[in-house]
Amino acid sequence: MRQRIVAGNWKMHKNAEETEDLLNELIQAIPTDCETRVIVAPTFINLAAAADHLEFTNIEVAAQNMHQAEGGAFTGEISANMLKSVGVSTVILGHSERRAYFHETDALLANKVDTALKHEMEVIFCFGEELKDRLNGNHFNVVENQLRDGLFHLNAAAWKNIILAYEPVWAIGTGETATPEQAQEMHEFIRNTINKNYGNAVSENVSILYGGSVKPDNAAEIFSKPDVDGGLIGGAALKSEDFTKIVLA
Ligand code: 13P
Repeated sequence: MRQRIVAGNWKMHKNAEETEDLLNELIQAIPTDCETRVIVAPTFINLAAAADHLEFTNIEVAAQNMHQAEGGAFTGEISANMLKSVGVSTVILGHSERRAYFHETDALLANKVDTALKHEMEVIFCFGEELKDRLNGNHFNVVENQLRDGLFHLNAAAWKNIILAYEPVWAIGTGETATPEQAQEMHEFIRNTINKNYGNAVSENVSILYGGSVKPDNAAEIFSKPDVDGGLIGGAALKSEDFTKIVLA
């Protein structure tokens, strides 16, 4: 059956020394027989060192972003090949901060997904509605469009390398979490939408993570919902104690 996954998106936090310290704490704290897949996504500049550091542990690394081109004159960017060459084979794409502040569109993200899959990388694909969409009752439409435009060009086989992360924008970094019922309602909608397009084998096997103000004290209830397969954690991923509690939830 589908994997349970807890991933930490460190965003633009932690310098080299702080990265090493947090990794050491996590190596100590996360049980070696942990049944949940644990992934951390430090910043690009600390990613190669993190991949090295975690090589013989049960904690995996992911990049927070990636460029869609194979290489070339793209000042400041990082390619799939570069990530693979330092031992990183998972990438977060489509985070709402990338969409909002760096103008990443669904069409661009579809390209990035294709590049990542071509390099046999795994993609954590983020999407989710803004507050105005939820207040308008438009949240299901927005989510369906993001899935269709970013992912539904893929064939069924490609989905084995896709992890979904539903992150309602209004719940990110705000302390306002979707209720477990709201999360379940949307996750069920997402799984049904995938089922309509790809059938049972894909929809039942894809992991759908929830992200948005997940904390040690709300994680267990959110994760107990049948269509919630784990979480993508921001703020609470920056402290080993909090992140470990969430992993164990
Ligand atoms: P917070 O957990 O800080 O709300 O962030 C969620 C997130 O954006 C993870 O990608």
